[in-house]
This record gives sequence, C-alpha cells and structure tokens, in this order.
Amino acid sequence: MARPDLLGRLAIRTADRERAALLRRARAVEHADGPWLEVDGRRLLGFCSNDYLGLAQHPQLIAAFKRVADDEGVGSTAAHLVCGHRREHAMLEEALAEWTGRERALLFSTGYAANLGVQQALLGSVDGAVCVQDKLNHASLIDGCRLAGAELKRYPHSDVGGAARQLASRSEAPALLATDGVFSMDGDVAPLRELAALAAREGATLMVDDAHGLGVLDAQGAGSVADAGLGVSEVPVLMATLGKALGCAGAFVAGSAALIEGLTQFARPQVYSTALPPALAAAALAAVTLARQEDWRREKLSGLIARFRRGASELGLPLMASATPIQPLLLGSADTALATAQALEALGLLVTAIRPPTVPAGQARLRITLSAAHEEADVDRLLAALERVRPTIIGA
Ligand code: PMP
Repeated sequence: MARPDLLGRLAIRTADRERAALLRRARAVEHADGPWLEVDGRRLLGFCSNDYLGLAQHPQLIAAFKRVADDEGVGSTAAHLVCGHRREHAMLEEALAEWTGRERALLFSTGYAANLGVQQALLGSVDGAVCVQDKLNHASLIDGCRLAGAELKRYPHSDVGGAARQLASRSEAPALLATDGVFSMDGDVAPLRELAALAAREGATLMVDDAHGLGVLDAQGAGSVADAGLGVSEVPVLMATLGKALGCAGAFVAGSAALIEGLTQFARPQVYSTALPPALAAAALAAVTLARQEDWRREKLSGLIARFRRGASELGLPLMASATPIQPLLLGSADTALATAQALEALGLLVTAIRPPTVPAGQARLRITLSAAHEEADVDRLLAALERVRPTIIGA
C-alpha cells in the first residue's frame, strides 16, 4: 500500500481528533452587540470574549478608526521598516511605553508574532541558550522558544522552586525566564515578585506575557507587572496584546530603548510582516486613553467577578482560584465540558468548552469570561442557567 503523503497524514490526524470527539470548528458570529452574539440565527448572551473592559464597540474607538480609514485607507501597505510605519503607530507606541513605564514600545501584528519575535531575537543567535517556562504558558511562548532553537525547560505551574531548579540545572548558558502574567485558561496571576527575585539571583532575563493583565490589573490598568510593583529592571521584557482588554488587535513589546532597538533589527516576525492598519492603531490609542481614565470599568468588572464567584460557590460549582475576569469551571472530561456548553447554549448562553490539547487531559473546562460590558442581571442569568445544568456538571 502506498504511504500517505503529507495531506493524507494530516487527514489521518484530523480523523483521529474527530474520533476522539475533539474536533475544533469556528462558528460564524452573525452579529455582535456588546456581549450579545447572534449565532445560527439565535441571539445568545456570550461569556467567552476577551473584551474585558467592554471597549471593542466603544464609539470613540470606532470614530478614531473611521477618521483614519477615511483619511488614509485601510491597509498600512508595507512593513514598518519599509513605509508601513505611520504617525498613528508612532503615537500608539509612545502611549504604550508611557502607560507601562518603559522607555519604548514596539508594535507587532499579533501577540503570537511578538512572542516568536522576542525569543528569536534574544535567544536565536546564542549558543546553548535556555528558556525556562511555566508549563501553562501560552502556546506562542512555547513556539517562540522552539523557533529560536533554544533549549526549553518547563516547570510545574507557578512553581517558583521548580523554576529555580530548572535555572540551576543549566551550565553557564544565558537564560530567559518567561511566564504569562495572567494565565489564559486558568485566570490566575503568576508569582511575579518571586520570579523576578529568582531571575535576579540567577542572572536570567524575565519576560512577562501580559495579554490578559493589561487594562485589567493595577489601579491604572497597566497590568500584572505594574500591579506587582515591578519596573523595567525586574521585568526587562514586557509583552501584551491589543486584542483583549483594549478591544482591537495586535500586540507590543515594551522595555528599554536598547531592547526595542535590538528587536527592530532582529525580530523577524516584526521586520518581515505588514504593519497593522493605521486606523487600528488610532483605535487602540483611543482605547489606551479610555482604559487609563475610566476606572469605573475595572471597578464594575471587579463587582461582576465577585458576584459570579459568590453565586457559583453557593451552587457548589468547581470554581478555580482566579480573581481575574477569566473564571473557568473545571469539569474534567471533554465530554462533560462539551455537554455543559451545549446545555447552556440551549438556554441562550454562549460559553466555550476548552478541551485538550489546549488544556491538559482530564482538565477540560468551561472558560467563562466576564466583561465590563456585562450587567449584574447578565451574571445572574448565567448563574441561573448554571444551576439548571448543574446535574451535567457535578452529577445528579
Ligand atoms: N499570549 C497569550 C497569553 C494569549 O492568550 C494570546 C491570545 N490568545 C496570545 C499571546 C496571542 O495573542 P494574539 O491573539 O494577538 O496573537
């Protein structure tokens, strides 16, 4: 029998995944109105977006986007180093640097590309370089280490002792210690102060991916690193995205002028990729201003988180230890997670079931996310629906 070619092998892997009932499929949202999403002709109340501050549809973001699109068109037409770097990008980079208390910031088209670019620039040309990472770090941090050809050493989730052992086990090699600030599927915050102290002791460089912390944590919304009181000397490499609390798309790395200069030279995903649309940069700049000024969004979000946790705990639901808008319910089997999501959908709610391989086997969950766009009544509705589907979750 002929050996399957590459497409044949891919089809076999896909069929395996289908047999395991783990097939992934995107559904088209026909209309979005705040947290309300129309899918398959039905209006569902969503608890699955990362629009934590409820800015994605803010009139000021839309106005900024339209103004620049009317003026300059849609595409940036080239990479930053060619002619894609517009005034809107420069202004956004300045605002992001100022907000995060860093000298400079550099835009990337996505957070995924930023995590690849940083590691490839920092580690790529260093013989024997090591990257020590939390086991639950985002896939793009893991992939960035692979792209850089560095040795990947992982430690158990948030286990600073484990991180210390991994760092100590290296020879003289330079090391990057990389962690999510807020873990995307668990919602908990990394032990940043302890990791910073460890990095300083071990002479390692600490990198924090704050995709889910920026805008949400810290009095000014400057994220998990600012909330932990850590400056650029403790966290020299700070990455965050514009597609979550800021309601746009794209990402940036903030740090010293020397770091940004180096990334501009060597971070290939930045150098060889089309710059974000300038209209999007203008919208993101409007979002930064709102995220900094409108404390009420963070206050409202905290109230909704507390309300949800109180209600879920009264119902005996399997909450995880998270104080952020990511409030997963740990259900264990992928089948249970899927059945629960389907039961909730029948009740008019859209909540995503997260299954392996995105999370470890046996740790499938509902990833419930809250937003300042929700109202207390929305949370109450979610809790009422969860009460009704509780037999699916914890057995009748
Ligand atoms: N890091 C983390 C922790 C994330 O959750 C994500 C997005 N899911 C990314 C990086 C990638 O960001 P982007 O969606 O902008 O590629």
